Amino acid sequence: MLSQTDQDNIEQEVSLRVIENLTREKAASRAKKLLGQRCELCGYSKYVDAYFITPKSKGGTNSLNNIIILCPNHHKESSLGLISEEQLLSIVGKRGSLKNFF
Ligand SMILES: [Zn+2]
Repeated sequence: MLSQTDQDNIEQEVSLRVIENLTREKAASRAKKLLGQRCELCGYSKYVDAYFITPKSKGGTNSLNNIIILCPNHHKESSLGLISEEQLLSIVGKRGSLKNFF
Protein backbone atom coordinates (compact mmCIF):
# COMPACT_ATOMS: atom_id res chain seq x y z
CA MET A 1 0.00 0.00 0.00
CA LEU A 2 1.37 3.41 -0.97
CA SER A 3 1.62 6.15 1.63
CA GLN A 4 -0.38 9.34 1.14
CA THR A 5 2.86 11.18 0.29
CA ASP A 6 3.74 8.62 -2.39
CA GLN A 7 0.26 8.88 -3.88
CA ASP A 8 0.46 12.69 -3.89
CA ASN A 9 3.88 12.56 -5.57
CA ILE A 10 2.62 10.18 -8.26
CA GLU A 11 -0.45 12.33 -8.92
CA GLN A 12 1.70 15.43 -9.17
CA GLU A 13 4.08 13.74 -11.60
CA VAL A 14 1.20 12.54 -13.80
CA SER A 15 -0.30 16.05 -13.88
CA LEU A 16 3.05 17.55 -14.85
CA ARG A 17 3.45 15.05 -17.70
CA VAL A 18 -0.06 15.79 -18.99
CA ILE A 19 0.69 19.52 -18.97
CA GLU A 20 4.03 18.94 -20.74
CA ASN A 21 2.42 16.84 -23.46
CA LEU A 22 -0.33 19.41 -24.00
CA THR A 23 2.23 22.20 -24.20
CA ARG A 24 4.25 20.17 -26.70
CA GLU A 25 1.21 19.46 -28.86
CA LYS A 26 0.25 23.12 -28.75
CA ALA A 27 3.79 24.15 -29.71
CA ALA A 28 3.76 21.65 -32.59
CA SER A 29 0.43 22.85 -33.96
CA ARG A 30 1.45 26.52 -33.58
CA ALA A 31 4.70 25.77 -35.42
CA LYS A 32 2.82 24.16 -38.33
CA LYS A 33 0.57 27.23 -38.59
CA LEU A 34 3.48 29.69 -38.52
CA LEU A 35 6.00 27.76 -40.58
CA GLY A 36 3.60 26.24 -43.10
CA GLN A 37 2.53 22.72 -44.02
CA ARG A 38 5.65 22.00 -46.05
CA CYS A 39 8.81 20.03 -45.32
CA GLU A 40 11.59 22.55 -44.76
CA LEU A 41 14.08 20.18 -46.42
CA CYS A 42 12.31 19.05 -49.59
CA GLY A 43 9.04 20.98 -49.84
CA TYR A 44 6.77 17.91 -49.62
CA SER A 45 3.37 19.10 -48.43
CA LYS A 46 0.85 16.23 -48.42
CA TYR A 47 1.66 15.32 -44.83
CA VAL A 48 4.15 16.92 -42.43
CA ASP A 49 5.16 16.73 -38.78
CA ALA A 50 6.60 19.28 -36.41
CA TYR A 51 9.89 17.72 -35.34
CA PHE A 52 11.65 18.69 -32.11
CA ILE A 53 15.33 18.96 -33.05
CA THR A 54 16.88 18.69 -29.59
CA PRO A 55 14.81 16.25 -27.52
CA LYS A 56 13.49 17.40 -24.17
CA SER A 57 15.67 14.79 -22.44
CA LYS A 58 18.70 16.69 -23.79
CA GLY A 59 17.38 20.09 -22.78
CA GLY A 60 15.34 20.88 -25.92
CA THR A 61 12.55 23.43 -25.56
CA ASN A 62 9.13 23.94 -27.16
CA SER A 63 10.32 27.12 -28.88
CA LEU A 64 10.12 27.53 -32.65
CA ASN A 65 13.92 27.61 -32.74
CA ASN A 66 13.85 23.95 -31.74
CA ILE A 67 11.09 22.89 -34.14
CA ILE A 68 11.37 22.09 -37.84
CA ILE A 69 8.58 21.01 -40.20
CA LEU A 70 9.46 17.69 -41.84
CA CYS A 71 7.89 15.15 -44.19
CA PRO A 72 7.66 11.55 -42.86
CA ASN A 73 10.84 10.58 -44.73
CA HIS A 74 12.98 13.41 -43.37
CA HIS A 75 11.38 12.97 -39.94
CA LYS A 76 12.55 9.34 -39.87
CA GLU A 77 16.01 10.20 -41.20
CA SER A 78 16.35 12.85 -38.47
CA SER A 79 15.22 10.40 -35.76
CA LEU A 80 17.81 7.91 -36.97
CA GLY A 81 20.56 10.54 -36.96
CA LEU A 82 21.03 10.34 -40.76
CA ILE A 83 20.40 14.09 -40.70
CA SER A 84 22.28 15.69 -37.82
CA GLU A 85 20.93 18.15 -35.26
CA GLU A 86 23.48 20.66 -36.56
CA GLN A 87 22.11 20.38 -40.12
CA LEU A 88 18.55 20.88 -38.88
CA LEU A 89 19.53 23.81 -36.65
CA SER A 90 21.34 25.45 -39.56
CA ILE A 91 18.12 25.33 -41.64
CA VAL A 92 16.16 26.78 -38.73
CA GLY A 93 18.82 29.52 -38.42
CA LYS A 94 18.18 30.56 -42.04
CA ARG A 95 14.52 31.43 -41.47
CA GLY A 96 15.39 35.11 -41.60
CA SER A 97 11.93 36.44 -42.39
CA LEU A 98 10.35 34.49 -39.55
CA LYS A 99 12.58 35.86 -36.80
CA ASN A 100 9.84 38.32 -35.87
CA PHE A 101 7.65 35.46 -34.71
CA PHE A 102 10.15 34.22 -32.10
ZN1 LIG B 1 11.19 16.21 -46.69
